[in-house]
Amino acid sequence: MSNDENTPVLRGCIKLPLANDELLEVTSKAKDYAIMHGAAMRSKTAFSPDSLNFAPFVLVPSSFPRKEFEKAIALQPIINRLMHNVAHDEEFITTTLAETIKVDEFTANLFNIYRKVLAHGFTQAYSVGLLRSDYLAHVYEGCAIKQVEINTIASSFGGIATHLVPLQNFVLRELGHAEKLKHMPKNDALAGLCDGMVKAWDIYGKPESVILFIIEDISYNICDQRFHEFYIRETYPHIKVLRRTLTEVHREGKLGQRKELLLGTTEVAVIYFRAGYEPAHYPTQGEWDARYLMETSLAIKCPSIHYHLAGTKKVQQALAQPAVLERFINDPEEIKAVGKIFTGLYSLDDNDAGNANYEMALRTPEKFVLKPQREGGGNNVYGVDIPDALKRMTRVERSAWILMDLIHPPLSQGYMVRPGSEMPPQIVDMVSELGIFGVVIGDADTIVHNYQAGHMLRTKLSTANEGGVAAGLGALDSPYLIDSDGEEGYY
Ligand code: ADP
Ligand code: MG
Repeated sequence: MSNDENTPVLRGCIKLPLANDELLEVTSKAKDYAIMHGAAMRSKTAFSPDSLNFAPFVLVPSSFPRKEFEKAIALQPIINRLMHNVAHDEEFITTTLAETIKVDEFTANLFNIYRKVLAHGFTQAYSVGLLRSDYLAHVYEGCAIKQVEINTIASSFGGIATHLVPLQNFVLRELGHAEKLKHMPKNDALAGLCDGMVKAWDIYGKPESVILFIIEDISYNICDQRFHEFYIRETYPHIKVLRRTLTEVHREGKLGQRKELLLGTTEVAVIYFRAGYEPAHYPTQGEWDARYLMETSLAIKCPSIHYHLAGTKKVQQALAQPAVLERFINDPEEIKAVGKIFTGLYSLDDNDAGNANYEMALRTPEKFVLKPQREGGGNNVYGVDIPDALKRMTRVERSAWILMDLIHPPLSQGYMVRPGSEMPPQIVDMVSELGIFGVVIGDADTIVHNYQAGHMLRTKLSTANEGGVAAGLGALDSPYLIDSDGEEGYY
């Protein structure tokens, strides 16, 4: 997509190609290692609840600029606080989404829940945010990171990513490169995220209450979710975890005397949404009713409805406008640092600015990506496809979308290993997206926990627009940190 033949290639972790025999042997071992350590998923093509495939992975860790990695880590608590403050700014959320909800039914449904909850007052003052801020390095600015998006719901791969460092460590050792391991940052995403849920459970303060995971009808990314569940059960055996779909909550859930959420007679302390972020998760009004029931309950939601709305692309676009950050961050240095990770984001609302942005997209579509208010991958429109997509929309319909500058990431080269693909794998050109996890817990007045909680790296073929791992175009990876080297930079 965005890469032409001049895109620079990052210096690799080890010299490639590997000899064929060595490559075959280490790849077979790595596949088994992945399955046996839960770097795995359910197959979409041959689904069985009784079996797993290894998750697509990159054999040798892909390079990522150390300075930029460290910057992203250091920024996370600031981003956590930013999102917490945005989520609690009723006026900002309401004005920012005003045009969008006129045309985007899904966001409007979420917003209606928000409005109803506001009207009755929040039953539970606390929210827990398990966030993931995603970045690409941008070659035109010396590989400075640019934020792709921020996820406030169902931020995934914390579980598997934690197990990917040992997998790639194993591969590097097998290949005789143990000395490289020191450049792979350790990753405690699983513990960090789960401890966040447990801190919320502590705040709720009822010994018999449980943590509820809201799940899809079929969970292909089952290992990632089970890692969370098993970590909680093993580390905190007194806390039970239940898994239910929205449909099941509609059937079984009710509110008790204190508005506590009850499943049968079991009280729910914390609700962790791994579903509920796309229209297909709400096939009937029943699922929407279940979401509303949970939002009005005393349970601590991850995310609560206002956190969910704070994670929309439209809010991201609004935050990138000049002077808006000042509303949410006090420290000028922090404002500057956060401002630098934003790339151009443009409204397509039906007003003068929005219409000018529309004209700009038609003139130079190759510079942009067009995004609707959706999560989960596969929804964006890229470059030359943008004019047709825009022309099919009415002026009003455009306000459900935002326009964003395309980020141009550097390439890396390596072996992508996927179930059923040819053996040994071929060297391919790839692009990596870094995700930094964050945990933030608090109410409208106070933040009681705020920390950075590990990372994940997702790598896709350079020719693919998007690299959803579950969608089949991306692969799990972890960063091999490299330093800028005089004139050569990172290349
Ligand atoms: P989703 O909520 O569906 O994950 P994203 O905004 O993360 O939406 O976009 C999906 C993918 O599209 C990203 O993971 C990235 O690969 C690609 N992408 C998104 N925005 C940009 C951008 N501005 N420049 C380059 N690639 C992008
Ligand atoms: Mg994304």
